[in-house]
Amino acid sequence: MTLRKISASQIYTNRGLPLTNAVLVVDPAGVIVSLDPLENHDPASVEKYEGILTPGFVNAHCHLELSHMKGKVSTGTGLVKFIEGVVSLRGSDQEEIQTAIDAADEEMWQGGIVAVGDICNKPDTFARKDISPIHYHSFVEMFDFWQDHLAQKTFEEYKSVYDNLTDKEGHRRSAVPHAPYSVSRTLFRLLNDLNSEGTSISIHNQETLAEELMFRDKSGDFLTLFGKFGFTYDHFEPTNQSSIHYAIQNMDPRHHSLFVHNTLTNANDVKVTVDWNPNSYWVSCPNANLYIENRLPDYQMFLATGAQVCLGTDSLTSNWQLSILEEIKTIRKYQSFVPQADIIRWATLNGAKALNIADQYGSLEVGKAPGINLISVNSAGEIDTSSNVQKVI
Ligand SMILES: [Zn+2]
Repeated sequence: MTLRKISASQIYTNRGLPLTNAVLVVDPAGVIVSLDPLENHDPASVEKYEGILTPGFVNAHCHLELSHMKGKVSTGTGLVKFIEGVVSLRGSDQEEIQTAIDAADEEMWQGGIVAVGDICNKPDTFARKDISPIHYHSFVEMFDFWQDHLAQKTFEEYKSVYDNLTDKEGHRRSAVPHAPYSVSRTLFRLLNDLNSEGTSISIHNQETLAEELMFRDKSGDFLTLFGKFGFTYDHFEPTNQSSIHYAIQNMDPRHHSLFVHNTLTNANDVKVTVDWNPNSYWVSCPNANLYIENRLPDYQMFLATGAQVCLGTDSLTSNWQLSILEEIKTIRKYQSFVPQADIIRWATLNGAKALNIADQYGSLEVGKAPGINLISVNSAGEIDTSSNVQKVI
């Protein structure tokens, strides 16, 4: 058995400080068999790289099935216009859809992504996921636009998508709510009944001011938009609270909960949510936020509250690429106060924990096969806009 010995200027293991003068010994299956001081090994036997080594990236939020819509919806228009654009473009040629899915899966793998939390409304991606080396958690997503009388029918429709999948090595599934503004209490209950204990559940959260206004006092653009789709919200009673309160009243706290976007989330929202479920994760998709709303979440607040942040790319409908490194660069560029070690943990370990796969992914530890990425850094050892990523394992 040939072992590879891999070293670089710094190794971010996600356990303690970054290591210098260390070597990762890896077996042919990618399992880390030891983590040693460099001097224990003959220098000629060690692959020594320039840059930093990190575990493989976890993309905690993607919509792989929307990959064919790259560049088709304009940027910076806000979420309401964005949704209108997406809805008008959904019907496309099946071959074009499949080709785009294959290319996007390949792009993620080459970009050092080893696991993905992926939203599905259709079964289009399932065949690719069966052959992809990436670990997928498919979140089969449901929404009924608060029409309780349609909840059962909606549920059965999407349940037929969900039934196409079985949990297996490298691919897990759960059924999830789309967003607080689009899921009725009845549909939440049906979802809770379907999901087994100890899975991961994702929900889009506090993405735009319209969502907050709807819950606070029934104002904002959302209800007009949903009216155009033919859904009445006459029965909707504003809660005078942010939308996440409605979500956690209806979600099952036994699961790991992934809240996605959180551009309007404040410290109190984080506190009540973590009190409700300590396994709550805050998935940030900064490039998609810039693409759609041109507004980023409050990362200072995330750091201050100790929130468990993950990173996601969202879909090619709302991003220029599916690259976790590009998400890291965006945070480094606009929110440079976030320590590099924290961002790397957001990009790796926290996503692995959120998806319940931290036994295998997310940190460079003996016994795991987390993938190993090499990221080029500047002379200060920092990731900057010119950094690139290379898959070492
Ligand atoms: Zn999304």
